[in-house]
Order: sequence, then C-alpha cells, then structure tokens
Amino acid sequence: MGKQVVDLEPETPFHTFSVAQTEEHYATSSIQGLSSAEAALRLKQYGSNELQGDGGVKWYKVLWRQVANALVVILLIATALAFATKDFAEGGVILFIIVMNAAIGFWQEFNAEQTMEALRNMSSPTAQVIRDEARVTIPNNQAVPGDVMIFEDGDVVGADCRLFEVFNLETDEALLTGESLPVQKNLEHIEKADEALGDRLNMVFASTTVVKGRAKGIVTNTGMKTQIGKIATTLMNVDANEQTPLQKRLNRMAYFVFLAALILVLIVFAVHGFKYSNETAIYAISVAIAIIPEGLVAVVTLTMAFGVSRMAEVKAIVRRLSSLESLGAVTNICSDKTGTLTQSKMVAVRMWFPKDGFYRISGTGFVPEGDIFCQGETAPNGEFLAQEEQVPIGSGTNHYLRTIQAASLCNMSELRRTQNPDHGEWTAIGDPTEIALQVLAYKAGLSKPALVESGFDLIAEFPFDSSVKRMSVLYKSPASEHLIFMKGATERVLPCCTYWRSGDDELSLGGEKGSGRAEFEAMITEKMNALAERGLRVLTLAYRKFHAKPGMDLVHGLNRDEVESEMVFLGLVGIYDPPRAESRPAVLKCYEAGIRVHMLTGDHPSTAAAIAKEVAIIPEDVNVVNNPLIMTAGQFDAMSEEEIDALAELPRVVARCSPNTKVKMIAALHRRDLFATMTGDGVNDSPSLKAANVGIAMGQSGSDVAKQAADIVLTDDNFATIVQAVAEGRRMFANIQKFVQHLMSANVAEIVVLIIGLAFKDSDGNAVFPMSAVEILFLNMITSSPPAMGLGLEPPSDSNMREPPRSAKQGLFSFEVIMDTFIYGLAMGALSFANFCIVIFGFNHGNLGSECNAHYSEACEGVFKARATAYACLTLLILAHAINCRSLREPGWSRANLSTLRQNRMLWLSIIVGVLLVFPMLYIPGLNRNVFKHSGLTYEWGFVVAAVFIFIAFAEIYKMIKRNVMKPLCLENSSELEMQRMRTCGDSVYDEVKE
Ligand code: ADP
Ligand code: MG
Repeated sequence: MGKQVVDLEPETPFHTFSVAQTEEHYATSSIQGLSSAEAALRLKQYGSNELQGDGGVKWYKVLWRQVANALVVILLIATALAFATKDFAEGGVILFIIVMNAAIGFWQEFNAEQTMEALRNMSSPTAQVIRDEARVTIPNNQAVPGDVMIFEDGDVVGADCRLFEVFNLETDEALLTGESLPVQKNLEHIEKADEALGDRLNMVFASTTVVKGRAKGIVTNTGMKTQIGKIATTLMNVDANEQTPLQKRLNRMAYFVFLAALILVLIVFAVHGFKYSNETAIYAISVAIAIIPEGLVAVVTLTMAFGVSRMAEVKAIVRRLSSLESLGAVTNICSDKTGTLTQSKMVAVRMWFPKDGFYRISGTGFVPEGDIFCQGETAPNGEFLAQEEQVPIGSGTNHYLRTIQAASLCNMSELRRTQNPDHGEWTAIGDPTEIALQVLAYKAGLSKPALVESGFDLIAEFPFDSSVKRMSVLYKSPASEHLIFMKGATERVLPCCTYWRSGDDELSLGGEKGSGRAEFEAMITEKMNALAERGLRVLTLAYRKFHAKPGMDLVHGLNRDEVESEMVFLGLVGIYDPPRAESRPAVLKCYEAGIRVHMLTGDHPSTAAAIAKEVAIIPEDVNVVNNPLIMTAGQFDAMSEEEIDALAELPRVVARCSPNTKVKMIAALHRRDLFATMTGDGVNDSPSLKAANVGIAMGQSGSDVAKQAADIVLTDDNFATIVQAVAEGRRMFANIQKFVQHLMSANVAEIVVLIIGLAFKDSDGNAVFPMSAVEILFLNMITSSPPAMGLGLEPPSDSNMREPPRSAKQGLFSFEVIMDTFIYGLAMGALSFANFCIVIFGFNHGNLGSECNAHYSEACEGVFKARATAYACLTLLILAHAINCRSLREPGWSRANLSTLRQNRMLWLSIIVGVLLVFPMLYIPGLNRNVFKHSGLTYEWGFVVAAVFIFIAFAEIYKMIKRNVMKPLCLENSSELEMQRMRTCGDSVYDEVKE
C-alpha cells in the first residue's frame, strides 16, 4: 500500500454538526442510507476503511526463512569442501540444490502465507449498514463516509460516526481516551469545536466497543482519518504469526534430529580414527544431510494452508492456526441450540391466556400472512372443549388485544418489504424471537409501525440479555398514559407480577406469598409445559400502567428493579424453531467418531429436551424428569465441583443456561481431561470461548466481541459445520502423521545404508561410501519431498470419523507411528544395502577399488555400479512407500486403495516423476560418474525390481499382522451403543435419586 499524503486540512468538527448538517455534508439520508452505486464511488474516493501499516506477507521475510537455517549452512560447508577438493561439478550441483530448495520452499511458503492472509481478512470485522434502503452486512473495510451504520451491544464500532438514534448506548473507549469506564452516549448538541474526545457524546469512534444498548449513526470518517487512525497504525495487528503446538513440536524434533546428526558425525570420524580428511568430512556431512528431514517445514506449512482453505470452503474461518490441530482431538462438542442446531426461523404458533384459553396461529417464516384461531380451554386429557374459531383482524377480546400489543411493542425487530412496499419480499431484522412476535402482531393487525403511527412513543428500554432472560420497555400511549410492557422467560417474568388479568378483570396475587399465588403459578406452569413439551419456546408477556413522579428523568433516571415490579400477567406465546435438517445426522456422526454432544440453551428444560430428542442428543424414549442428562443451569450451578466430578456423565442438555454456566461446564470437562469446543454469540460468551479448547463464534448472529475471542468463526452458524471442521482437523492431523512418517522412514533407511557402509574399506584402508553425497541430497530433497506433500493432501480415509478422538496429550507420534517409521526404514535400508552387497560381492569379487569416493576409474566400476543399484533401489522404495503411508493398517496395494489414488494428483504425479527422474541421473554421461559418482545400470535392474516387490510384500504382511494383533482403530456401531449407554446412564442415576 502506498503512503498516505499527510492530512493538512483541519479536522471537520462533526460533533458540532446537527444530524441534518451531517446528512447534508455527506449527501446522505439517515433513513435510506446510501445506494450501493454511490458507496462504490465513495470507496474509490475515500479509500478502503482500514488502518494501514498492519502486516501483510513480506516476501523478503519468507525468503530469509528459506536461507537462514541450519541445513543451508551445512550444505554451504559441503559446497566449500567440494570446491576445496577441486570437485567443481559436485560443488556446483550442491549449490544448485541449495538454490532450488530455497526457490521451491519460497514459492510454496509465499503462496501458503498469501492464502492464509486472504482468509484472515475474511474473518476481519463486518459492519451493519443501510444500503439501497435495506440493512446489510458488509466487510468493515468497505464502509464509506455517509453510510448509515447500525450498532448493537458487542459490536466493535467500524468507523467514526455522528449518532442520530441511541438507546442506552454505552461504549468502551479505553483504547482511545484511556477512560476505563463505559461512556454513555446521547444526541445532545455540542458547541465547542475543540471538545475533548471523551466528551463528544454524540459520536462513536472506530475500534471502540459497544458494551450496552443500540444506536445508529452516519459515518463521518473512515480508515486513517478516524481518531484511532490518527493515534496508531499498528494496533490492529492481531495474532498474525504465532506458532501452533505442532510447529513447536516439530521445532523441538528438529533439535533432537540435529543432536542425532552430531552424534552420527562423531561416529563417522571415530571410525576413521579422528583423522581429518576432506573425504571423511564429506561423508560426515552426507550422514547429517541424510538424517535431517529437509522437506518437513515446507510440507507442514503447505498442509496447514490447504487445511485452512478447505475449512473456509465448508464455512469455518480459522482465526488461530493452532485450532486446526486441536479440532482433530475434540472429544466433546458443546453447542448452542438456537440458530446452531435449529434454523432460527422462529414462528409463533400458539398463544394462551386465562379465560380465552389457547389460540392457534397459522403461517410460516417471516411472512406476516396467516390467521389466528381461538381454540378455547382444554379438558384434562388435552382435548379442546370448544370449536376452533377464527379471530378477524383488529378484533378480539380486550385481553387478546393487550397481549398482542405487548408482543408488538416490547420488540425491537423490524419487518420490511424490499424494493416494493406492496409486493416486495419480506425481510426481517433483529432477534428471531422478536421477529416471530412481530409477525404475530402483523397477523393480528397490531404491528409496531401501526401502533407507533397511532401515537405510541418509546421512551426507555431495559434490554434483554441471556442472564436476566427478560426485557421491558416504557411507552407513552396515545392517551398520554405511561405503559410498561415486559416479555421473557416465564420464571423470570412471574416474580415481577403481582396481578393477573382474566378477561377484563385484573386480579391481585397479593404479594410474593399471597394467597392464590401458588395455585396461579401451578396453573401457568401446567399451560407452559403443555407448550414446551412440543418443543416450543415459551415467552411470557406482562404489562402495567406506570405513574411517573413529576420531574422524573424517564429516559435515564429509572431503576430497572422498580420498573419491573407490580406487573400484570397477560399470557404465554409458544414459538417454534425447527431443527436444521443437517443437525440430526451430524450428531449421529459425532457418536460414530467417539464425540459427545452437549446442548446448552437459554430455553426451558421441556423445550430443550424436546428439541434435543429431535436431533438425537438424547434418545427419544428416555425419561426426561429427574434425568441427570438433562439439567437446568440452576441445578448445575448449585452443584459443587466434587458433586459434578462424581456424576457418571456430564449433562447432555443444560437448559436455562447463562454464559457463566458455560464456563463452569468447560471447567468440568477439563477436570475430566476432555477436549471441548464451545459455541457462543453474545458479548458475555467471551470467557467460555476462551476457556474452551476450541472456541467457536457464530458469524451471522455473533457479536464482534465473541468473534474476537473465538478460534474459529462459522459463517453459516450451523452445527453440521462444526462436525465438518472436526473431520477436517482429523484429516489434516492424520495426513501430517502420514508424511512425517514417510520422510522420517526414508531418513532412517539412508542412515542404515550409510552407517553399515562404514564397514567397507578399500585397498588403501579408506571407507567406501555405499552412497555419494549428491545421491543422498537428491533422495532427500528431490525424491521424497513431493510425495510427502502429496500425502499432506490426501482425502480423508473411510475411518476418519469412525475412530475415537486421538488424545490431545499424545502429540504427533503414537507408538504405532514410531514403530512403523523404524520398521519400514530398516526394511528399506536393508534391501537397498543388500542390493549394494549383491553387486559388489556377487558380481565384482568384492573389489572396492581405490579412491572411489572421489573419482571414477576402471577399478571403481564395481563400486559405481553397486552404488547406482543401491540408489535406484532406495529411490523406488521411497516412492513405493508413499503408497504404504496412505493408510496405517489397510492394505496399500489393494485395487480399492489404488483406485482412490486417482483423486490425489499431487501424489501419483510425484511418484511417476520421481521414477522417471532416476533415468537421467543414471545415464547422462558425466552427470552420472562425475557428479552422482555412479554408473548406468544393466542387469542390476533385476535386483532393484525384486527389492521393490519384496518390500511391497513385506509391507502388506506387516500391516496384516498389525490388523490381527493390535486393537482395532475403528469404533463399531458406536452410534447405537452411545444411545443405549445414554438410556442406561440416565436410568441408573435416576434409580439412585428415587431411593
Ligand atoms: P438461546 O441461547 O437458546 O438463544 P437465550 O439466552 O437467547 O437462549 O434465551 C433464553 C430465554 O430468554 C428464552 O427461552 C426466552 O424465554 C427468553 N428470551 C429470548 N429472547 C428474548 C427476548 N428478545 N426478549 C425477552 N426474552 C427473551
Ligand atoms: Mg438467543
């Protein structure tokens, strides 16, 4: 990005502007916003709304990483030695390999980093603006001056804005002003142009967070012109390049390997009696090169970048790289219900209030078309006592109208018709619960716009949050009365009520323990359960008249507890939120993968249990009452740590959950050594998202605060996406294991050949190398890296989601993987060495010549042939081994397995190219004898091919033994078993409770 010209104009004092002046200044309208065409123009004019100077991929940094490492240093020493011994060809080749290696590594890493960078940008904040008269979500960097921006609690403000509508807005401006307390915003006019930043209360500033309330404002400045842009340029740089545990582990392994290399070098010198000669030095270096897995870092980076983009394809944006690995080890998934397991397309379908009884509401989705029918009361067996009767729009009993009024006014959602106000498509803005109620109000003819038109005026709001589980509003009615409307969870609204309405009468409940209260509550609970057991979310409505004392500040001076008391109970509304079609199969898939699913929801236990049964989180036929698998947050919170730890199993469903309960749940899971994900969307969810091993935020419904605390953001808010992400995490980890095993066993094989080779002495008593330095380099860097990379791109195996989660503590290498590495390595090394011996001793009378390490002579022909045989053999074995590595236990050379190879182009192509490359290295004159120090093969190919067949047979037999002797990797029938287990788990503890 280019340098920005220093802004010499004085700052425009927008805080002294009226709303109208601001609108005029930027030619915009606070109601209609900008058109998208105009916004696009302005984006060109004002530039993108971001702070400059943050990160970006720097090519020179990536290049430096390729050049500055131990391997390159060793190779440079080798080059120097080669030139010192006047072996210019060999020196030139090593130099060439260094350059090639750096170039390939650079190209790969640079691409990978750019992919990651692009993905990081995808997870960057979004903003809500009004464009083309509709509310849309845009990437924050596309906001322009004149945009109308909308803020809700939890949002990070995307640009500096002059406010024109606020409700209880408080923002945290510590970043800008150092003020640690939230600042309450208002719309008052300010005269002073040089007012302190912290006192410009009619504005909000980019990068501050909304801690409470809602607001709308006109964007006045974006990008570097914002207040934050003036202060700092690098504040936005979040967690760019942290290393993941895997990378750290690989680094640690690198030290270990380096140490091993040193020891081997010592051995080489020891065998030569610690006499220094260039020959010995080159041999020592060859050994060191053989053991260091050169390709590893590049392959890991590539695999991760690939994993990140695959995750983005399935709609999971990775914010922290380490979560990629953690996902693979997840044992428990804790998920929200609303919007994650369900569609969040809520519809009010039932209503109940005293005297009139039940109402049924028809219609689906956000479309406010449907009818309302009065069904009357039910007999104890649930049958309706009267005939169903339609309620015409705008009529109904007083009680009915009042109840709908409460649903309509205690409601911040908005229904709109896009484009055409008469025929356009309906869209809805706001909380789905509130949308459902607003749709109900429309169906009854009492929509909020209609009521506002008739003279209802909102004065104050006490907002909903998941801990209080209710909200109330204060309105001035057309008759200039003050009315309070309340809605919320039944057990949070009833305590506020001291009256209840029955028809046109308001009856007293007589205080908290007043007579009649218990019966009343029992009756309401019964009706509520009738609704909740059908999986409906039940909201309770209440209202009252409010007598304001003279001189009272109704906007800010009200005490919530005082306002929310002495309410009149109105009625219940049942809202259905259908589960997503993908949820149930995804939950069952989790059981197959040995993963348990917990649902944490703010809903009533009966509602929660009904939905949990629909999506298979608990079996259909378990007893819901007193079942420890289904708890309320109240019960769970009341338990001590010891009691929780003593539970046979942690609850699968936690109802009436608040953000704190989520933290407690994660702590309980951790005490059991389990590895958990947690989803969240609200501002208060950050602690639980951070505490979880993998915190997952909702991209659509989530607040910015939650997204920033999360490791992963789901762009479709869908539970099934979590399961896909876990599968992807497992696949990636399995693939990393595959290629690490491949690279390391090739190294083991090379070391075996080189170390045993030390035993050979030529006629001068010097060691004869069974492989030359260039051969080793070629094998290690050109032959084995590409197939390893191919292994990193392997598609998931069939058993990917049928194996239990790997232990998070176990690290990269299970015992089995380490065993495989050595066994395959030894086998390949032994076969290749055997080929060397057969050629030397079987066909060349054991003639090891003289000075055959340095240059070709007649006497060296035997050694040169043997070397070529060992080299060709090891090359083919390493390539063949890539096929073995595709699966730990399953046959690699079966027809089924080979047919899936077609899907992995990188792998089969690199194997073919690897094979073809052997020929020029063997037969190009000069290159073969002078550089590779070997000669072209003839009849020796027979031994090479035989070795390959022996190795394949060996690998298949070895795997067969493993299949028969070792514990099977896959879980069998685990979905059924898990359901069975849950049934008994619930029952056994239930029995204890009964006793
Ligand atoms: P969830 O995590 O399942 O979305 P919430 O914490 O949002 O649960 O909601 C919990 C309960 O609070 C609901 O069952 C409902 O009774 C009540 N509730 C939800 N939304 C609102 C709202 N906008 N206003 C009042 N009460 C609400
Ligand atoms: Mg909710």
